[in-house]
Amino acid sequence: DIGTESLASGLDWDKQDGLIPAVVQHHLTGKVLMLGYMDKAALAKTLETGRVTFFSRSKQRLWTKGETSGNTLELVAIDKDCDNDSLLVQVLPNGPTCHKGTESCWVDGKAHAFLDNLARLIASRKGQSGDTSYTASLFASGTKRIAQKVGEEGLETALAAATHDREELVDEASDLLFHLLVLLEDQQLGLADISARLMQRHQARQG
Ligand code: AMP
Ligand code: ZN
Ligand code: ZN
Ligand code: ZN
Repeated sequence: DIGTESLASGLDWDKQDGLIPAVVQHHLTGKVLMLGYMDKAALAKTLETGRVTFFSRSKQRLWTKGETSGNTLELVAIDKDCDNDSLLVQVLPNGPTCHKGTESCWVDGKAHAFLDNLARLIASRKGQSGDTSYTASLFASGTKRIAQKVGEEGLETALAAATHDREELVDEASDLLFHLLVLLEDQQLGLADISARLMQRHQARQG
């Protein structure tokens, strides 16, 4: 195949020890899903099979994404960049691309990482003066008040959904999540406890 040959021969393989970074993008949504590295054999196998295959630097061998999880990447198109040292691989993914279970190795993880940081900030407000911080004043007002706020915000969230007000729903759900984080911290619990319980249930359902 001439297209295949010319793509491989046009790449600057020597620049990074025979490896070319390959950015994987969802063909329909444009979402960036993951980054992998291809050597010549990985690129050839990808083009031959239509399944995206990398050279795994940790495994030190060819690695077809999804070979154990089943979450393969169907090849739609590959293009090299302006200076021939990286690839853009457009795919249709079968299932979540990240081995942590999210669609993307970046986008979904970011929201989660932000919540973790917010929870840490909230925890740091515990015991501080309520004059300067709303969060500190919530902690100072006690468990009953915090629990009541979670109840109120839950109700407001439900009402926003029922009245089909999407902007309001995002606002109220944000209020709810914030106050829930405060309540969890007040009870010496955290997001990790909630994730652990959800994962436990998830596994129980699958097994
Ligand atoms: P899979 O290729 O989906 O069968 O996953 C096999 C192993 O490859 C996983 O246990 C991870 O170590 C690794 N892996 C899978 N997906 C990714 C990814 N998106 N980024 C980095 N490593 C991954
Ligand atoms: Zn480049
Ligand atoms: Zn990942
Ligand atoms: Zn509210």
